[in-house]
Amino acid sequence: MNQADRAALHEFLGRPRRVLLTTHINPDGDAIGSEVAFARWLSGRGARVDILNDSRTPEAFRWLTTENPIEVYDEALAEQRFAEADALVVLDTSNRQRIGRLARHLDLHAIAVAIVDHHVTHEGFGSVNVVEPELASTASLVYELMREAHATPDRISAEALYVGLATDTGNFRYSNTDARAHRMAADLVELGVSPPVTNARIHATAPPGRLRFFGEVLAALEVREGGRLVVLEASPEQFARHGLVGADTEGLVDMPRVIAGVEVVALFSEVEPGLVKVSLRSAGRVSIDQVCARWGGGGHPHAAGVQMRGTRALARERVLPELARLLTSLVGEPAAGSGA
Ligand code: 5GP
Ligand code: MN
Repeated sequence: MNQADRAALHEFLGRPRRVLLTTHINPDGDAIGSEVAFARWLSGRGARVDILNDSRTPEAFRWLTTENPIEVYDEALAEQRFAEADALVVLDTSNRQRIGRLARHLDLHAIAVAIVDHHVTHEGFGSVNVVEPELASTASLVYELMREAHATPDRISAEALYVGLATDTGNFRYSNTDARAHRMAADLVELGVSPPVTNARIHATAPPGRLRFFGEVLAALEVREGGRLVVLEASPEQFARHGLVGADTEGLVDMPRVIAGVEVVALFSEVEPGLVKVSLRSAGRVSIDQVCARWGGGGHPHAAGVQMRGTRALARERVLPELARLLTSLVGEPAAGSGA
């Protein structure tokens, strides 16, 4: 934690009257949960807050946004929001490109930018950057910032923060799950969160086609590198046939980790022809974020991703040899470990 950066953020938030919030493309539970809690915190202090994202909110998290609607990018709307706002707060990414089409508007408006994030890969592009990789989720950071400012999350904010924490820790299973994460979860439960109700809301939302798609992709899984690497592939034809979008792969790359001896899982998911999303997960012994960073992506040591133009075959040629190299350097028996 850098106390000076946090102090600078509190100072930054003391000034603006109208704040625009955003997050990364293809937002996850931590992105949406952090935005909702942050918006409610700032509105509670009298600021006017808008949330505008490049991508649609996934169905699983839409229930969080009933009181704090999240707008989806449209050129004219973005122009208007950037013109109205005194400040932009970017949550859950420090990478300018990851805010998608909103990045272009940054060049056209002299707007003050603050970053609130927990990823290591990038330098923040804000005038204030609170980036704390030691925290399990951006929601954890938002929670701690609120507490420092003597704000108590209301039930909706507590639920939003819980969604961020629970999804980024793989429901308290990954290696980022520490005492601090469990203490925060306990606080949130005391503030009114029901773990079973919240879990059902975010996990019981899939259409049947999503499971059929998972089934197809998993049935074709490849085991390589002496059982240490599992490779999955999804084609544009499969997405189209089941009526799915990129965000529907959520959770898929985590599944092969139940296979004994697996250290790394790679998913090559080609949503539209020529655009491949690579998702990597490590069970804990190798760090895979540098493999993604090399091609312009990033993430965490044990959960990272990158988008590549080209065929799945090309993406595999780029990534698989590097994973093989990381895995051959491993000696001995697998340690118990996991996650993001
Ligand atoms: P996922 O594989 O679930 O999409 O992403 C895993 C982790 O990697 C997340 O922390 C996510 O923020 C990060 N990540 C995924 N794709 C990208 C990408 O294209 N660029 C960067 N910088 N990070 C990514
Ligand atoms: Mn996150």
